[in-house]
Amino acid sequence: MKLVIKFGGTSISSPENIRSVAKYVRSLSKGNELVIVCSAVSGVTDDLIRIANLVQKGNKDSADRLSKAIINKHKQLAKKLIKNVKTRKKLSEKMNSDLSDLEGLLHGMFLLGEVTSRSSDYLISFGERLSINLVSFALVDLGSKSVPLTGKESGIVTDSNFGEAKLLSDTTRLRVSKTLQKYISRRTIPVIGGFAGADQHGNITTFGRGGSDYTATIIASCIKADEVWLMSDVDGLMTADPKTVSAAKVIKEVSYTEAMEMALFGAKQIHPRAFEPLLERKIPLRIRSTFNTKNEGTLVTGHLRPETKKTVKCVSVIRHNGLIDVRGGSMVGAPGTAATIFSTLAKAGVNIMMISQSPSESTISIIVKKNDLDRAVNTLELNLLGKIIKKVDVTADVAIVALVGSGMRGTVGVASKIFSAAARKEVNVIMIAQGSSELNLAFVVKDSDCQDVVRSLHSEFNLGK
Ligand code: ASP
Ligand code: MG
Repeated sequence: MKLVIKFGGTSISSPENIRSVAKYVRSLSKGNELVIVCSAVSGVTDDLIRIANLVQKGNKDSADRLSKAIINKHKQLAKKLIKNVKTRKKLSEKMNSDLSDLEGLLHGMFLLGEVTSRSSDYLISFGERLSINLVSFALVDLGSKSVPLTGKESGIVTDSNFGEAKLLSDTTRLRVSKTLQKYISRRTIPVIGGFAGADQHGNITTFGRGGSDYTATIIASCIKADEVWLMSDVDGLMTADPKTVSAAKVIKEVSYTEAMEMALFGAKQIHPRAFEPLLERKIPLRIRSTFNTKNEGTLVTGHLRPETKKTVKCVSVIRHNGLIDVRGGSMVGAPGTAATIFSTLAKAGVNIMMISQSPSESTISIIVKKNDLDRAVNTLELNLLGKIIKKVDVTADVAIVALVGSGMRGTVGVASKIFSAAARKEVNVIMIAQGSSELNLAFVVKDSDCQDVVRSLHSEFNLGK
């Protein structure tokens, strides 16, 4: 099989972990053609972002301290990882050359005391630029042939939208397939840094947090891989959060659309665009654990087998949100009311998570993150109260409970089952939303009620069986 395997940051967070990743990859390389994609070592991207913020604030000393810690961390990892003396020396040379580029960049940023979106992307791309050296040389240490490649070196080309770059897929396809084919045919395992690419002028760009998943699926589509595996520290997509529901199980099989819905809620956060590159060729994706490789994980596929089409596949919850109820008689039959409310919130930088409007059009309910709540209420009161809205009511701590499953579509009685289960727990349902795709049904309860409801729904739909 032609496989693209991506390892998350916790999978490569210590010399022991990196070595066991390398052993696992080597064992798979016997019968398969492999391309490896890596995240940064866990915590490193966060630290690099912190450095950028410190430089911006003019806090040079703290930035300097933090960057020394990152440099030292990678030097230590490199030193402890490799047994063979020659290989260790080669790795240390490669590391030092990359680290001196990082130091040069930091020096420049300190001097200017300025962080642009371009320099910030270049800075935060270093997590992956460094981690690939560790994984690739660990493979060499075991006797495999391997090469570390940054996203740019592998041929990933994007627009110049730093921080949220968009892929230029035609150019990327040509370049990546050409670069990687060369290595694959020589049985050399490419270890590619996720998260980053370069624009057409060669500037480093990134895909946004969690972007290594996206890199993996981009690469898979470019080389027409048979499967992509996302290896992290969770066993797969779960029927519920195991911390809330002890009977929660790994879900065996989901469709791309189900997985997209679940990725937004579940424990395993997947980059939202990561599914896109797989759709055309319907390349299967597996979500698996590095620490439990016997477990098959969750298969995400374009062809769901009929026996895996359940009405509801998982119950998840997003806790600690704020609910805003906006009322006013003059909202009724007035085109543009909703648009005005939403654009007012957008201007204040508030992200809306869920909405519902009564058919009388006299109330609109809006869910926002708790951190955004005060800002949202202030801006609505300041700009719209007494004009198009009469009253703003706020409920501070609510939870969204969401059920996902493509089998809900057209199945009669699902909603009644859901709300009966809530009623049996004497939980009040504050708000409900279901898209017409019927793939996801979400409702809002008081945060203190959410765990009871989740447990009760999990057993109502037999998800632990
Ligand atoms: N290292 C990047 C991040 O932490 C990308 C990734 O891990 O997928 O967001
Ligand atoms: Mg990560």
